Amino acid sequence: MARYTGPSCKLCRREGVKLFLKGERCNSDKCAFQRRAYIPGEHGSEKGFKKRLSDYGVHLREKQKVRRIYGVLEKQFRKYFKMAAKKSGVTGENLLQFLETRLDNVIYRMGFAPSRKSARQIIRHGHITVNGRKVNIPSFLVRPDNEIEIKEGSRQMNLIQEAMEASTEVENFDWFEVEKDKFKGKMVSIPSREQIPLDVDERLIVEFYSK
Ligand code: SF4
Repeated sequence: MARYTGPSCKLCRREGVKLFLKGERCNSDKCAFQRRAYIPGEHGSEKGFKKRLSDYGVHLREKQKVRRIYGVLEKQFRKYFKMAAKKSGVTGENLLQFLETRLDNVIYRMGFAPSRKSARQIIRHGHITVNGRKVNIPSFLVRPDNEIEIKEGSRQMNLIQEAMEASTEVENFDWFEVEKDKFKGKMVSIPSREQIPLDVDERLIVEFYSK
C-alpha cells in the first residue's frame, strides 16, 4: 500500500505540534520542531505556527494530526471512521479505539519499538506473532486476550533491545500487560478514551466527516 515516505519532522511542523514520530529523537534537542518553529515552506517562517484557520481548517487539521500520529493514509482512516460510526457507542471514542488497537500501535505502546513507524517495519519483516502465529500486517486489529510476542530469533535486534531499554511508560497502561523478560505482552481490554493518552479533540474529526 502507498504511504507517506517524506520526512516525519515536516509533519510535526505542518501540524504545529510535536507528534512524536521518531522515538527518542523527539525528546532530545535534535527535535526539528524545537529548532525550526514554523510551518515548512517558502513563507512558513513569516507565519510561525500561528496561522489563522477557518472553521473547516480547524476540523481538517485535527483529523490530519490524528491520522499522522498513527501513520494511516486517508483511505484507511476514512474506513476506520465508517466502522466507528456503525459501532454502538461514541463515534469519536470508537475511532480512537480502532487506531489504538492496531498491531503497530500496540507494539509501540508495549515498548517493543521506539515509534509506530519502526513498529510497522518490525511487523512487516515478520518478527511478531499473535497467539503463536506470525502476523505481518501492521493494521491487524488486536483483541482482548490476544498474546503478542517477539519471535525468539528476533529478540536480539538492536531496534527492539534499545526500545525496550528506553521504554518507561509501559507501566502507565492498564489495558495491556507486558512481560519484558519474556518479550511478550497481552491485551487485557479495549482501552477507554481516558486510557488513551492523546491530546486531541476527536469530536472535531467526527464533525469533519459528518459535514
Ligand atoms: Fe516531530 Fe519527533 Fe521530529 Fe520532533 S523529532 S519534529 S517530535 S518527529
